[in-house]
Amino acid sequence: CGIVGYVGSQPAHDVVLAGLKRLEYRGYDSAGIAVLADGALASVKKAGKLANLEKALVDRPLPAGSTGIGHTRWATHGGPTDGNAHPHLDNASRVAVVHNGIIENFAALRDELSERGHTLVSETDTEVVAHLLGEEFTGDLAEAMRRVCRRLEGAFTLVAVHADAPDVVVGARRNSPLVVGVGEGEAFLASDVAAFIAHTRSAIELGQDQVVELRPDAVVVTDFDGRPADVRSYHIDWDASA
Ligand code: GLU
Repeated sequence: CGIVGYVGSQPAHDVVLAGLKRLEYRGYDSAGIAVLADGALASVKKAGKLANLEKALVDRPLPAGSTGIGHTRWATHGGPTDGNAHPHLDNASRVAVVHNGIIENFAALRDELSERGHTLVSETDTEVVAHLLGEEFTGDLAEAMRRVCRRLEGAFTLVAVHADAPDVVVGARRNSPLVVGVGEGEAFLASDVAAFIAHTRSAIELGQDQVVELRPDAVVVTDFDGRPADVRSYHIDWDASA
């Protein structure tokens, strides 16, 4: 239901957790965070309130990486359990993905992945995306995301990181909202500007069927076929202190 992505130089788990708190008003049943540090992904996810996730993070702190993603879930496929909470990883734990919306053709994709030897461990429609990204990734996460999006049906916002793509967060949007925040040497992705307004007021609204690649100093937007997209930047001028 809420998504946050971050790449920059601050501790990602702090930025992402604070962002998720700003999205709590949207309602959710579980939450999770993944951080990329030293070429590996670490994630913590918990059913229930963000307080449960915070407690789990005290017991099992995430490494101090500066690239991360987070999610608050409103379950549509699979009950609100720790295992169904996002992020979802592929079998090699090289990809982590969070998702808002519904992948309508997930059952066919899941069967296809199982036939190719993947083990899917959740009941969600989302998990297929992590496995597909793992298969499609050959060094360029945005290109892998574009290939995967062309195979997905439904309405979705997706945000992903890959252990072999340091300092990169990739997002995609079809129908569900996704906004980029552009900072100084850092960039944000969220379903609502409230998640990053404490850090920057410079935003880009992603259009329909677009993929965005975030790096600390660059934001690149394309359509699902890789053609450069027109970027609509704007200044957030509402008072978000409330
Ligand atoms: N369909 C996904 C799930 O059930 C995402 C739900 C959401 O938008 O939070 O896990």
